[in-house]
Amino acid sequence: MMKLRKVLLSVLPLLAAAEGLAGERGLIDTTRSPHAIMYMPDLADVKWNGGLLGERFEVARSTMVPHLWEILSDPEDSHAWENYRIAAGLAKGDFSGPPFNDGDFLKWVEALAQVYAVTRDPALDAQMDRIIEVVGKAQREDGYLHTQKIIPQRRGEGGIKAREFEEREHFETYNMGHLITTACIHHRVTGKTTMLALARKAADYIGNLCETVPHDLARNAICPSHYMGVVELYRVTREPRYLELARQLIEIRSLVPPEVGSDHNQDRMPFRKMTQAVGHAVRANYLYAGVADVYAESGDKSLFKTIEAISEDVATQKLYITGMTGAIYDGASPDGVDHTQHKYIKTIHQAYGRDYQLPNLTAYNETCATIGYGMWMWRMLALTGDARYADLFEQTLYNGILPGISLEGKDYFYVNPLRKLHDFDWPLRWSRTRTPNIKASFCCPPNVVRTIAEAHNYVYSLSPGTVWVNLFAASSLDTAWTDGSRIKLRQETEYPWNGAIRIVIDEAPKGPVALKLRIPGWVHGDGARLRVNGEPVATGKPGSYAEVKRTWKQGDTVSLDLDFKPALVEANPLVEETVNQVAVKYGPLVYCVESNDLPEGVSLREVAIALEDFGAPVAASREQIDGADVLALTLQAVALQRPAWRPDQLYREVAAVEPRPIDLKLVPYYAWGNRGDTEMTVWIPVR
Ligand SMILES: [Zn+2]
Repeated sequence: MMKLRKVLLSVLPLLAAAEGLAGERGLIDTTRSPHAIMYMPDLADVKWNGGLLGERFEVARSTMVPHLWEILSDPEDSHAWENYRIAAGLAKGDFSGPPFNDGDFLKWVEALAQVYAVTRDPALDAQMDRIIEVVGKAQREDGYLHTQKIIPQRRGEGGIKAREFEEREHFETYNMGHLITTACIHHRVTGKTTMLALARKAADYIGNLCETVPHDLARNAICPSHYMGVVELYRVTREPRYLELARQLIEIRSLVPPEVGSDHNQDRMPFRKMTQAVGHAVRANYLYAGVADVYAESGDKSLFKTIEAISEDVATQKLYITGMTGAIYDGASPDGVDHTQHKYIKTIHQAYGRDYQLPNLTAYNETCATIGYGMWMWRMLALTGDARYADLFEQTLYNGILPGISLEGKDYFYVNPLRKLHDFDWPLRWSRTRTPNIKASFCCPPNVVRTIAEAHNYVYSLSPGTVWVNLFAASSLDTAWTDGSRIKLRQETEYPWNGAIRIVIDEAPKGPVALKLRIPGWVHGDGARLRVNGEPVATGKPGSYAEVKRTWKQGDTVSLDLDFKPALVEANPLVEETVNQVAVKYGPLVYCVESNDLPEGVSLREVAIALEDFGAPVAASREQIDGADVLALTLQAVALQRPAWRPDQLYREVAAVEPRPIDLKLVPYYAWGNRGDTEMTVWIPVR
């Protein structure tokens, strides 16, 4: 009996795994998640047909991905690859670079896998094979992967330098989490199990810690990419122990003792007690996205209620107009302690601030935090089908994620201010001009590149008998539902340059299919018109999905026309930094003023918009910035020619000035900082 049980236990996971391996697909595989209502097409089912996002993918393929390899594989520039080679015994030397380099390198491998999924370039497949071989040699036999510790361990060195989980800021679970996620994508793209085998070992290692030293593991969940990773591994393998592990990883967070836990790491209180986004924004958003994944599989409503409340808190009080999160460089969290006792107050950095604390010049807004927010918002959409989350995803994709890399694809922002002035020039730890390398922390570059390489996965979703059109972009979809029935369609549009969208059906199943088209929440009440083969149909409310259900034949056309016009946006007056200022939006895009577009003799600080002038026509023109197409807007504004400020002057009496009318040119915010070291502002004073 014992023997039979043993045999069954050894075979069952393989059977489950075989079943899982056959059915899985997509970037985030919710095809069989009982509590998700939609799933993604497979990784190569959506193709760009030009357009802004298609152009970004092309730059990712041709420049961003190969350029990152040049950096990562150059020991002088990064040492990330060299660390793996040393840990694998293929080179000599010491570990160098930040402790999270292993995971950042693997984010780049994920981008490589996605590009391979689309291009099927055999050279990329071979490159991944070579990398996986080395990563496999670097990984410890028990699954631990963290070259910073493995390198001294292999040399027989002891002490703190070689002891794993000694220092919570060493990101071991982050590194292994990215190994697991990348392995799932690699497996789906190539069908190979080489990297998946490494992922299983890493997850089993984490699983063992979860059973034996859960306190240590919980304490070391820093930028917890492993929550998403382990759920995805469950989706690949269908082995229940990985789902149980993911569930436990959230539960053990409440074991972090009060003297260690902090708002900074979102572990001051048990997860379910949280109502607000707090602390380090990358950690926070990765946590919330990971919890969303656990909920998609487990259906634990108490988890969902928590992330729903926190997402409401972010969207209504802590989110920049650019869809960015993590407003402050350094601060303090007075919560949870006797705040009259200053010595107990804990520090936070690169963190969510208090409600409405959204500075512009000193905005932190790490690119990774915004990417984490996007991953979280897509998951909220998949769990609810609520178009509001698709709006937030779109807002963050265009205005929060795209700015993280230059249009050429080689220079990066680590922090993302919404205003930059040359006189405000004291060092803030990170550069506010784009830089070709960020040696102290190379987390954002591969993160933004993988997200751009993968952006097409978010355009459409599927649910039984339904295609959801979440984003508008020139693209084609050729996919099948899990029941095997196929659909092919094309989306013809110049969005986001205008709001004319045509969807042409190329192939459809015999029975009825519902097309659900997102009507963006920023459209005015009657600003969206939906037609099927030219005949108007009900459009529904902005901020919802309009549904058109019928039996489609080849050539059927659905057109959606969204009114696009420049809009002035103001912030809640509790946001002190934007009082009496407005931002310009056009469709989903947030615009900004850059100093090199100003008329001769006008400085950025003098510019103001007179509300009565805004009714005047706004000129829109297609231009190129660094080889990329953008739509520039020109509107009527004024320059208030005030006397220059002296550096020793903090206040002065207001002097009367004569406003000088000017044509004010604006460019999309994502395109700023591509023409030298400019001044820039998103928010413009109202005269
Ligand atoms: Zn980063």
